[in-house]
Amino acid sequence: MVVLWYILIMFSKKGEFRDGIYLLNHPEVPVYLIRGKKNYLIDAAFTFMAPNIVGELEELGVEPHYLLLTHSHYDHIGATPFIRKNFPEIKVVASRRTAEILAKPKAIELIKSLEKEAERSFGEVSDLEFQPFKIDIIVGEGDEIEEFSVLETPGHTRCSVSFVFPEKKIIFVGDAAGVIEEGHIRPQFLSSYDQYVASLQKILKYGDFSLALGHGGIIPEGREFLENSLKKTEEFRKEILEYYEKFGDMEKVARKIYREEYEGLGLKQPKEAYMINLRAMIKSALNS
Ligand SMILES: [Zn+2]
Repeated sequence: MVVLWYILIMFSKKGEFRDGIYLLNHPEVPVYLIRGKKNYLIDAAFTFMAPNIVGELEELGVEPHYLLLTHSHYDHIGATPFIRKNFPEIKVVASRRTAEILAKPKAIELIKSLEKEAERSFGEVSDLEFQPFKIDIIVGEGDEIEEFSVLETPGHTRCSVSFVFPEKKIIFVGDAAGVIEEGHIRPQFLSSYDQYVASLQKILKYGDFSLALGHGGIIPEGREFLENSLKKTEEFRKEILEYYEKFGDMEKVARKIYREEYEGLGLKQPKEAYMINLRAMIKSALNS
């Protein structure tokens, strides 16, 4: 069993990480809070987690002014409408593509059903149902608002952005730099391999900043993790291309990697979600 250093030094529990930077909700699906001149939330986890998130904010006595969404995936936006219900003044910030996706009735239906599936897989029962919501501030590359600036970091999805807080020396990347599962870095190039690599290189410019991941927690200094993630990404692409050369069939490649990675590492995410993401990454690798 390889124990990697960043697992050991990672901040992966609830509470204050340092100077007004908090991990709320759950380390596997964190909602981050920055208490600065204004209060900022980053990402909004699952719908059924909304009462917990609101409860933690009330306990801290914090009124959030902004909610920044890194991308449109259901595990990052679910509680947004319910957070807004409790804090009506909050401004929701996201990329233009995220706003476009959330304007599609089909996408809303898919998010609703995935939210319910997540609820079941966590063994929870909630009467909340995901609701579409409006983005108040649409942001793009280089935008600066109050204490943060925006980097477009596509590749995981086309709608992915990262939020940089220069004074706090921290960057929130969602899933744009990979995730940690069972102690392993897993690349996440669902929409484009080339864009994903370019985004990782862009995030690496903030290598001496703390790196807040969309799943797992905060790495106090991101550089080494990001370099490893880049290496892992290149290796995974090579593996996909080699298997494709051997089998000449995408589904066979998917099954081979499923056995090696999902079964081999003992990943716990639902098989169906894993397979959807894996097929998307095989396509991205073949198109790179
Ligand atoms: Zn995610």
